[in-house]
Amino acid sequence: MNGHCKIRLHRLLAVLMLLPILLCALCLSACSKKKSGNEEGKKEEQHEVIDLPPAVPAMGVGRIMPGVWAQREELVLIDPGHGFDDPGNGDGEKSWWLNLDVRERDVTLAVAKMLKEELEKRGFRTAMTHDGVTLPQEFNYDGNNKFNPDERAACINSISPDYMVSIHVNYAENQEACGAIVLYNLTSSSKWNDWSEPAAESIAEAIDDYVVTSATTKLGNEIIYDFASYAVTRDTHCAACLIEMGYASNEVDAQDMLREDWQRSMAEGIAEGIARFFDSMEE
Ligand SMILES: [Zn+2]
Repeated sequence: MNGHCKIRLHRLLAVLMLLPILLCALCLSACSKKKSGNEEGKKEEQHEVIDLPPAVPAMGVGRIMPGVWAQREELVLIDPGHGFDDPGNGDGEKSWWLNLDVRERDVTLAVAKMLKEELEKRGFRTAMTHDGVTLPQEFNYDGNNKFNPDERAACINSISPDYMVSIHVNYAENQEACGAIVLYNLTSSSKWNDWSEPAAESIAEAIDDYVVTSATTKLGNEIIYDFASYAVTRDTHCAACLIEMGYASNEVDAQDMLREDWQRSMAEGIAEGIARFFDSMEE
């Protein structure tokens, strides 16, 4: 046998040795194909079995519920005035003669939560600067347990809403002063649009429609909107207003503000005013 023939023989032997392995591999592959074919068949069977009629939408789920307003793009940020170690007006010292225990931070938080619900009913996306329980520590620059106006303005700008409404309770030495005031600011160069005044006007009108006030003092209780400079309306980039819902120093206003139905009507009025404003923008 010469060297050439040796190589040929070796090749033949190698092919013969590999043949069973190849046959085995082919067999396994066919088996596995068959198996997967069976599984597909089973899947088809199962699909036929579980072919149920279309699911019925659950009541009260988002847009499916009849009567729910269309989802809007706008984000409305609600700022409940004061809170934590800052009780605001009507803290028992300023309104001691009324003895009605109106605390601004409690009334503003109660109305803010209702306003959140009312805005969401109308399809708005919402957020709150705080929940009255946890002070946003990243904006608590001075480290005290109060959420001061400058800190709020920074917080509001970080959330970057389309509209911001800050809820407050008023106070005056003159106990006859009463009624709501919607305040806005246009002068800030940081304002990205000129919506603040027309939105404030819309809210003032809607509060007038929704909120029944029983105050009969001689200063009256006309709902007005007016210019004022506050950090939360001045130093924020978004359109914004600050609402003084009534006077803790006025007996009738104070009694009203403690009533849940009055708080609800105020929340409805503010939400409706905001909705009307954005509706008018779309026209
Ligand atoms: Zn206040």
